[in-house]
Order: sequence, then structure tokens, then C-alpha cells
Amino acid sequence: MTDFDLKCPECNSFFKTDRFSFNCPDNCDSLSNTVYQGFNVVEEEGIWRYLPMLPVDKSNNYNKTPVFLENQRFNELVGGEVVIAFHGYHPEVGADLDTCTFKEIEAVCSLRYAMEQGSDLALASVGNTANAFLRYTHLEDITTYIFVPEKTHIDLFCVEKSDNAKLVVIEDASYSDAQEIANQFCSRPDVSYDGGGRNIARRDSLSTLAYQYYERYNNLPDHYFQPIGSGTGAIAFYTGSKRLNDVGVVNKIPKIHIAQNNPFTPVVDAWNQGTRKLPTYDYNPLDRTYAKVLTNKNPLYSTTGGLYDILKSTGGSATTATKREAEKAGEKFNEIFNIDLYPAAEVGVASLMKKKLDGKILLNITGAGRKKLKKDLNPTTPKPDYIINDKSGLEEIK
Ligand SMILES: [Zn+2]
Repeated sequence: MTDFDLKCPECNSFFKTDRFSFNCPDNCDSLSNTVYQGFNVVEEEGIWRYLPMLPVDKSNNYNKTPVFLENQRFNELVGGEVVIAFHGYHPEVGADLDTCTFKEIEAVCSLRYAMEQGSDLALASVGNTANAFLRYTHLEDITTYIFVPEKTHIDLFCVEKSDNAKLVVIEDASYSDAQEIANQFCSRPDVSYDGGGRNIARRDSLSTLAYQYYERYNNLPDHYFQPIGSGTGAIAFYTGSKRLNDVGVVNKIPKIHIAQNNPFTPVVDAWNQGTRKLPTYDYNPLDRTYAKVLTNKNPLYSTTGGLYDILKSTGGSATTATKREAEKAGEKFNEIFNIDLYPAAEVGVASLMKKKLDGKILLNITGAGRKKLKKDLNPTTPKPDYIINDKSGLEEIK
């Protein structure tokens, strides 16, 4: 068993995980980090090269990784020296993530973790996460139950749905309803709630980007830039960087920069007002925001070890972009690379264009290449295994 402890950044105590409970036993409001022994790689493919720094014993057959792109025209567009960590589909540059986002990397590691803990998984999603689990559950011998509001079902797509992924569509439900029902479903003894960014398997799988960058460029970038919803990707990159520093492999912590899409910009607003407390909004951000995946109402910001602490300790920043700016940036990106971006990725490019950053910038692009995927692999909307209208329907689910 990979030997690791969790460390609470608030009370600094070390503890062991209890399956799907990742919180400090002293009930601190904090985001605990996995502590591994040193920086070690193994002869395996994809993220499994970094198996000694993942909370699992064994790999599975998933071998994809992001690809790094560098382009002079793009550097001129954003006014900086950029490496793009490209998570999407564009085989011409070696990018073959057929759900088009880095959610599949998180899903694959979460599935492996659940398999080793001997548990089935349940989760709620309105898009990318659902697509990732529908596509890749077949890698492990467990069942996943994916709860999706009916409204967003039509937007799901899959090149091939796993037989052991059960799609549960909930009629007339919001995302929070779906979360609540998925949670309720986890009262079954052998089903655990996936837990999103608090799940160490999800976060540590995304930390591998820092190791991959280090092995390619023999250092870390000066800046890391990413549009955020929950903030999991940015936190994971910081954590991976910190691990490399803690074991003396490098001596540099990148400044972490995040971006959000107007009008829903809670993290940017709180950060720019110098407060740990997030503002509240009296509307449903899904109705007003172009980049819908950036509308998380409970980002990992205020909690100790979350984005507030990370932006503060690295001297990072927070920027916004409007829909119009995002679309324009997406067009420019398409002109240079011939790749279509998801709205959230467009927000990232547009926000970076507003910043003047010296030194090497790593821009994380997740959500790209959907048009090409459609043409090449003809993904379809997966049919529901169950349609329910409220909690009472849960009993029908096998
Ligand atoms: Zn604690």
C-alpha cells in the first residue's frame, strides 16, 4: 500500500484517511493534503508514472495526459511567454482526451481509489464530470451512479458509455437537488459520495501536471493561470509544486492566478476586497453566466489551505473576463491553433490577455476540441438507465 498521511494545514496534525472522509479529525475547517515520501516515478504510462504520489496502490489502463503547446503567435496575443497545458481533443497535437476536459483524469483516479476501497460511487454533475464517469467507469470493477438534472441531460455526450456507469436523470431538478439526492443514495452501505475537490484522489491526480511540467522543463513555471469553478485544478497544481519544493527537487513556487466570468465572480470579488469571506448572490448564476462550469457556489476558497491562502502565500491574482471578451479570445485562439475552446477556456485566454506577467506562464486549458471530436468519433447523448422525479424513486435503482 502506498504509504501516506494527510496533514491538516490548520492544526498541522497528521492523520490517516478513513475511506471517503478526508477532513481533519479535530474538525478544523481546512483542506487537508496528502503527504508522500519524496518524489519518485515508476515506469508506467500517463498519470500512473507518478503512482508513488497518488493515494492508490495500482494503475488501470488509462494512459492519457495533457500535452504542452508553445506558440509564438499565441505569446504575442497574450503578451507573455506561455506554455499551454492542453486538456482536450486534437489528435494533430497528440491530444486525445475524448471527453475534452481534465475531468476524465480526476475521474479515472477517483474510480481507482473507490475500487481499492471496495466501494461503489455516487455523484451529481451537470456536465463534464458526468461525461468523464460515464465514459471511464469500465476501467474498474465497481458501479457508479451519476445523478443529473433533466435540464442538462441533453448536453451530456459520450463516445462510448460504460455498462457499469448508471445514469440517473432527475425530472424537474436543479444541481443542488441532484447533489442532495445523490447524497441520500449514499446511505446504501456500499456506495460512497465522490466528494469532488475534497477527494484526495481527484486533487492528487491533477497535481501530476506539476510533475509532468517539471520533468519536461526541469523547473516549475513562474506563474500558473487558470479559470476556476471550484478551484480544484489550481489548488492541485499548487500542492504538486509544493511537494516538489518540500523534497528539495526544485526551489520555486509558482504564483497562482485565477479567473472568472462576469457577472458571477465570487472568488475574484472576495480576493480583490482582501477578504476570506465570499459574497452572496441573489440569482441563479447558471441563468446569467456564459461559462457555466465556472459558476460553482461553494468554491474551495475560504477554507484553510484553500484558494485564499494559496493566492496570498504565492502573491497571485484574480481577474475577470466578460462573455464578449471570452468569445473574442476564443476566435483568436481558433485562428492560431484551429481548435475550438469551451467558454471557460475562452475566459482563461481572455483574462490572461489582460495581465502583464514576467517569466514563464503555464496556462491550463481544459475544455477544447469538441467540434473535431464530433466529426471524428461521433459522440452521442447517453440514454438514462433510470428516470426519477424525487428521492422516492431511489428504491428502483439497482
Ligand atoms: Zn486540523
